[in-house]
Amino acid sequence: MTRGTPGPLPSSAGAKPAERPLASPSATAPGQRRRPIRAVLFDAVGTLFHSAPSITRVYADAGAQAGIVLSEAEIGERFLAAFRRHFGRPAAGSPEELTRSSEAIERDRWRRIVADVFEELPDASGTLFEGLWDHFSRGSSWRLFADVTPTWTALAERGLRIGIASNFDRRLLAVVRDLPTLAECRHVYHSAGVGHAKPGVAFIRAIEADLGLSPDELLFVGDDRVNDYEGAANAGWHSLWLGRQRPAEGPHHIQSLMETLEWLA
Ligand SMILES: [Mg+2]
Repeated sequence: MTRGTPGPLPSSAGAKPAERPLASPSATAPGQRRRPIRAVLFDAVGTLFHSAPSITRVYADAGAQAGIVLSEAEIGERFLAAFRRHFGRPAAGSPEELTRSSEAIERDRWRRIVADVFEELPDASGTLFEGLWDHFSRGSSWRLFADVTPTWTALAERGLRIGIASNFDRRLLAVVRDLPTLAECRHVYHSAGVGHAKPGVAFIRAIEADLGLSPDELLFVGDDRVNDYEGAANAGWHSLWLGRQRPAEGPHHIQSLMETLEWLA
């Protein structure tokens, strides 16, 4: 999360780097576009902002307060295992029942993740969970990446509509409101509100309908190859995969959000 937290959806936590080449039949290369792009949708966690302090630090501190001392390395391992267990990894184009979402589903998912991370604590899904849930609902727990504001400003100056599309829950609205640059965003979509999660096509179609745009007028940018890049490309959108720390990997991979501007030029 892309995926909230107690959990945000740290794509780095939930996803193994894909081995497949970064290409999709429906992802359009620059120069092949027929209609101008009208809107750009960004994934949230890992794309626009990250947890500060880190998720493992926050979990370790919360655990220590509850009486269990675990190293950040141990927390990280447990978190990753629990995240994979409870989020699963549906493929792009999966049937709708695999990507169904709601506030109750997402909250219960995170409750189970916290309970698994702190398996020694029988009541981890109580106060400890609630504290983590609240922590990650505040903008002050997150920090924008440095390339967000210049990119966002330049896109707005070009008259493009800009939105956020995340596997999160309604806490995302409060987080976004608390963060500079994003606070005024009028197109914020989260899976719990839409009723479907990425990479499901139902999530993507709901955004199209709300914006009144067709797939080829939309660009998705995100750091998760399956949930973001493949999900949007599979639905016929233009799609870019953000891998800030990855070596260059073809025309649909960008290493900075600023490259979105060059891609649109
Ligand atoms: Mg993400």
